[in-house]
Amino acid sequence: MSLQSNKILIIGGGIQGCATAYFLAKRGQNVTLIEKDRIGRHASGVNAGGVRRLGRDVLEIPLSLAAMDIWQNLYQEIGEYAKDFHPCFYLKVAVDEAGREIGLMRAEDLSRAGFTHEVWVEDDHIQARLPHLSTPTHGGLLVEGDGWATPWRIVQGFANVAKKHGAKIIEDCRVTSLTKFQDFWQIQTAKGLFEAESVVNCAGAWAAGIARLADDHIFPLEAYAPMLVVTDKRPKILPAVMGVVAHTLSLKQLETGQFVIGGGVRSKASPSINQSDVLLPKLSSSMKLASKLFSEIGNAQVVRCWSGIEGYMPDNLPIIGRGRQNGLFHGFGFSAHGFQLGPGVGEALADLVMGQQPRISLEAFRPDRFVN
Ligand SMILES: Cc1cc2nc3c(=O)[nH]c(=O)nc-3n(C[C@H](O)[C@H](O)[C@H](O)COP(=O)(O)OP(=O)(O)OC[C@H]3O[C@@H](n4cnc5c(N)ncnc54)[C@H](O)[C@@H]3O)c2cc1C
Repeated sequence: MSLQSNKILIIGGGIQGCATAYFLAKRGQNVTLIEKDRIGRHASGVNAGGVRRLGRDVLEIPLSLAAMDIWQNLYQEIGEYAKDFHPCFYLKVAVDEAGREIGLMRAEDLSRAGFTHEVWVEDDHIQARLPHLSTPTHGGLLVEGDGWATPWRIVQGFANVAKKHGAKIIEDCRVTSLTKFQDFWQIQTAKGLFEAESVVNCAGAWAAGIARLADDHIFPLEAYAPMLVVTDKRPKILPAVMGVVAHTLSLKQLETGQFVIGGGVRSKASPSINQSDVLLPKLSSSMKLASKLFSEIGNAQVVRCWSGIEGYMPDNLPIIGRGRQNGLFHGFGFSAHGFQLGPGVGEALADLVMGQQPRISLEAFRPDRFVN
């Protein structure tokens, strides 16, 4: 294949790369996205689909709120695909006094910082909204209007609408080298040589390798494999997405009646061979905690479990910003909570690439924050 010239080349077809391609293409930019496997093949397509502002690091809240503005108007952006987002309430309950103290402190900190989306509610409020709960709680943290989505459909939505706006998407095409020549990047791939003014690194758990190819910073990115299980169909009893304060549980019930359980529990990932493990004992501890909340879950059969490869940063905050050399941008390291952020990240990266000011500060996500 002969050399292909592009203004902007995005590496990685997960939610971050596809949302970035969408916002750039919508604004009339010449953009190509290159994916080594298939769109949404990795974390973005296999995650729990939790669309949550609840429980975010305070430094991440402005980005999460900006992303939520887009989720709430998703139909305007990706049309029919938006029906795969199901807004509901998101609740993290305290199951003991220690959890209550942590939750109350969190609510106070947020209120002092001026955030009003996440509030403390007492057990009577929780019982009234979740009559099938099998246990009294010690109160909980609540966000109205968060929810869950079918992850691969949302990623497909951003990718397909980006294409409608003129973006090119090339799958089964691994980037193998990145070299800066004067004002251009030359990008060697499995499908030939590309040239671009700007390169956006949205390569997920593989992104530190892309940065290395570009002679950028050394990033302390580690790959792990968050895990999930899905049960058989049960009577509909859970109208919210739930977690437990100070635990990593995430629990929801799909429209089919199946429970999806997992969240923070993670196993070993081997990104170089696209492989991730499942550790059943860890998953069964999530199942036990979920069954404590709803005894019905104790009767459910697990029909499938899986994991996906995710890139984690030491401070659990993503890297979003300019690289060391002109024309290089990064958006990766989402540490198991990047799906909800995706639309906000895509918009912010599109702003950066076009030399515009993003609507929120990206200071907390500076790529050079680990450089001594
Ligand atoms: C099981 C699980 C549950 C989760 N639950 C939630 C949740 O409920 N809510 C939430 O907000 N987040 C959740 N997450 C986290 C979320 O899925 C991720 O943070 C997010 O999807 C990361 O998106 P990404 O685009 O950065 O990465 P990815 O989706 O991994 O995309 C990166 C892409 O880059 C491609 N790539 C890599 N190297 C190259 C190369 N050399 N050339 C070309 N392409 C390349 C990869 O093939 C990959 O497709 C979960 C994750 C997992 C695994």
